Amino acid sequence: MSSGVAPVITLNDGHLMPTLALGTGRGTAKEQDSIEEVRQAVFWALEAGYRHIDTASIYGDEEQVGQGIADAIAKGIVKREEVFVTTKLWNDKHACEDVVPALMESLGRLRLDYVDLYLIHFPIATNADGDPLNVDYLETWKGMEDAKKLGLARSIGVSNFNADQLSRLYQYSEIKPAVIEVEVNPTLTQHPLVDFSHRLGVAVMAFSPFGFVVSRDSGDAPPPRADDPVLVTLANKYGKTVTQVVLRYLVDRGLVPIPKSVNKARLAQNINIFDFQLAPEEVAEIDKFNKNVRVIDGKGWEDYPNFPFERN
Ligand code: NDP
Repeated sequence: MSSGVAPVITLNDGHLMPTLALGTGRGTAKEQDSIEEVRQAVFWALEAGYRHIDTASIYGDEEQVGQGIADAIAKGIVKREEVFVTTKLWNDKHACEDVVPALMESLGRLRLDYVDLYLIHFPIATNADGDPLNVDYLETWKGMEDAKKLGLARSIGVSNFNADQLSRLYQYSEIKPAVIEVEVNPTLTQHPLVDFSHRLGVAVMAFSPFGFVVSRDSGDAPPPRADDPVLVTLANKYGKTVTQVVLRYLVDRGLVPIPKSVNKARLAQNINIFDFQLAPEEVAEIDKFNKNVRVIDGKGWEDYPNFPFERN
């Protein structure tokens, strides 16, 4: 079964990155869902044509991601070098000397010799109990540079940094970040941060790409939902689903969306978006939903050093 193949982009360090990734963070999973579903989802995704998988040590599923990749390699569906694997450093490993050992542990769970992309998950540092620590992310970055120099990570980058933090990192780093992974969706369009990153030559991965469009406990979160007339009209026009239109909106803005699904049909649907394109005015129409409202708002960390988001 093959549903689609994402084009690749060239990162600022020369490596190639597929422009759509399977998300394996399970923030939307229900209590009864087993983590084993990740292994199956990764396998189905590779079978359907995905070549980029996004995980993190804090997701607790690197082992299952590694098993899914190993299964697909064993079945001859992919070779290791054809899969782009992204994982992330958690907040309690921000001391420079902790970075490489943390990555080695991730590699052990993934059963890989290297990852394609290693990201600092948040600019915030904590101890193992989650209490704040004042570690400068420039120090953490030196450990990331070591990881790249050792060949354990082909590319390095950051996640959840704001523009000032990215700018400072860019200015003072020996190796420039190749990627920034941040939340982008119709209610959080992030134009200033995306434009700034692109001007620096830093590729932008978009997490929680569906925002509140799909079923979450959305409460009083702003529209759009799946029945929104603007999205439904576009979906009908292109013979696609509303969720495909939302992913295409991100791709047409030059972003790399990371849709999460553990459902075979939905994950196949999510990569089947490379045979149509939205017109610039349709992208602008979806931009109008922006309310700067986040799915991941970092609540509880507002008083920590280097908190990256606006404090409400
Ligand atoms: P998403 O926006 O990807 O939404 C996931 C939800 O959408 C799930 O409930 C999924 O259910 C459902 N879904 C998926 N495809 C469809 C479809 N075609 N139609 C209808 N429903 C669909 O949210 P996430 O917050 O999970 O973000 C995606 C990924 O981004 C994460 O998995 C993680 O890898 C990354 N991430 C990174 C963060 C960071 O700090 N760097 C923070 C948050 C996420 P089902 O599985 O049943 O299909």
